[in-house]
Amino acid sequence: MPATYVGRFAPSPTGPLHAGSLVAALASWLDARAHGGRWLVRVEDVDQPRCVPGADRLILQQLADCGLLPDEPPLYQSQRSALYQQALDDLVARDLAYPCACTRRDIELALERLGRPKTRHGELVYPGTCRGGLHGQAARAWRLRTDLALDSMQNQAAGQVNIAPTAINSGAINNPPRPIRWSDRRLGAQAQDVAAEVGDFVLKRADGLFAYQLAVVVDDGAQGITHIVRGEDLADNTARQILLQSCLNLPTPAYLHTPLVLGPNGEKLSKQNGAQMLDTREPLAALNAAATVLGLQVQGTTVNDWLAAATAQWANAWRR
Ligand code: GLU
Repeated sequence: MPATYVGRFAPSPTGPLHAGSLVAALASWLDARAHGGRWLVRVEDVDQPRCVPGADRLILQQLADCGLLPDEPPLYQSQRSALYQQALDDLVARDLAYPCACTRRDIELALERLGRPKTRHGELVYPGTCRGGLHGQAARAWRLRTDLALDSMQNQAAGQVNIAPTAINSGAINNPPRPIRWSDRRLGAQAQDVAAEVGDFVLKRADGLFAYQLAVVVDDGAQGITHIVRGEDLADNTARQILLQSCLNLPTPAYLHTPLVLGPNGEKLSKQNGAQMLDTREPLAALNAAATVLGLQVQGTTVNDWLAAATAQWANAWRR
């Protein structure tokens, strides 16, 4: 097995781990071990207002209780703004990102005028209002110019030199569909037309914080992540991240999205809907519950025995 595998678990410290987040943590650890690779933990505290003080230490302790120890000291996104800014500057210099002065209300009104459906999962599909410049208004957020980003991705795929595109066709989005296709190791073939379904998404927010999409892509690239194993709720972000990787000349990792744990109301278990803190005083009970979600049935009397048996099972199912 080549030792080139680098995996990661990237929790947002908005609260302690719950049963659902352990599934993603365990699966990413098992996949790394099954491939003879390294496993890193990255604390995604870029969205500072949502972070809970001390949650990072609690998460690391819960992981350690379950025998999931990172191979390097965890990295904190809050300390990496300079790198994200550099990536944004690079995109701006190549006309792949632009400042936007629109408020949420402005976007709603623009969509109304265009007769376009307003939301997708509660998010507004930005109609490209500020593509043509700010006209004296102050910049609030920074967005990816998805049409030109897709051009640049297509040129790269066709083996052409990565010529800086020129921002000629500003204004509303009216491009032919160009879905980004990718293959998930569990979910199979996936496709998303980022320009039409998501629009020019935010890279740096109006509050000055970098958006998850940019931070995650810059960090996965900087840490040399080759395999991403994470919860299925994040699958919808993958096409955007592949597009950004291509704009920033970063390789695209392999993806595996794990099943979600549903709460009593049938919704995904999350800190937002009050999921309970994972009890790791009985680590084998916590690990067994997570393994069941992953379709594994593991025997073991100590955490280390259990993890070794689980790694062997995982390797049989997923090492390819
Ligand atoms: N920080 C994200 C979360 O906790 C995960 C990001 C990722 O794995 O790409 O939902």
